[in-house]
Amino acid sequence: RIVYLNGDYMPEEEAKVSIFDRGFVMGDAVYEVTSVLGGKILEFEGHMARLERSLSELQMVCPLSREDWLAIHHELVTRNELVDGMIYLQVSRGNAGDRDFHFPPAGTPPTVVLYTQSKPGLADDPKAKVGIKVISIPDLRWHRRDIKTVQLLYPSMAKMAAEAAGKHDAWFVEDGFVTEGSSNNVYIVKGSKIITRQLSHDILHGITRASLLKYAAEAQMEIEERPFTIAEAQAADEAFFTSASAFVMPVVEVDGAAVGTGKPGPVATRLREIYLEESLKRTV
Ligand code: PMP
Repeated sequence: RIVYLNGDYMPEEEAKVSIFDRGFVMGDAVYEVTSVLGGKILEFEGHMARLERSLSELQMVCPLSREDWLAIHHELVTRNELVDGMIYLQVSRGNAGDRDFHFPPAGTPPTVVLYTQSKPGLADDPKAKVGIKVISIPDLRWHRRDIKTVQLLYPSMAKMAAEAAGKHDAWFVEDGFVTEGSSNNVYIVKGSKIITRQLSHDILHGITRASLLKYAAEAQMEIEERPFTIAEAQAADEAFFTSASAFVMPVVEVDGAAVGTGKPGPVATRLREIYLEESLKRTV
């Protein structure tokens, strides 16, 4: 695989980063994951806008222009002959020399890494046909979940807990309400309403979420942005989640209770179709 590191393309074995890099020592880095279908990039502008916002919230300068980022994405797709998969992008605050809590001086070059991950048939994930099962777990993450940092230890522990329980994923709960999934935004459907938590510092502002809500509104579907509880999810007609790599994924069980019929419902199924159709029209 050919990867990108700080201005150069190279075989992955040659891509080396300093042991003093703040991404490594402090988790001082942000990232984005963008899907590729048929060699084309989905939601490019949305992911770049969020990257710029994450960096600016952490007082980092965005090292490249959108044109540069796009050129790198395209070059990696070409060099790796990527058809379906993802592109991972990470910017860390760079090499600070000796370990120090203070940010390094302005002008310290960030570490910029991009690489591809091939996932043939990404849009035909068989799980979308049967739905996935989730457990709930307390949300013990920090309170700036709107910044997409690489500090993914707790979400990683949550996925391990879900797997240990024989399920696919975990939903975080804080003050009695669901915040989001371990790596996705979550929704329930009750009657004609699609219910999802409103944006704040409590959740990541999903790029898939933003587009899906737009497409759903255009299709005259009713949307309510508010928090919901696990009990409400268990009593809902349907549940689903969204993320850049899973698109729209039905959730059919929450903490052992079947949601609706226990099978993917018509709303989630239709939204998945609408999302894929609309976002494929806007690839770059
Ligand atoms: N919430 C969290 C915590 C996530 O990690 C992700 C995946 N990046 C999402 C939501 C979904 O965001 P997006 O649709 O931009 O992938």
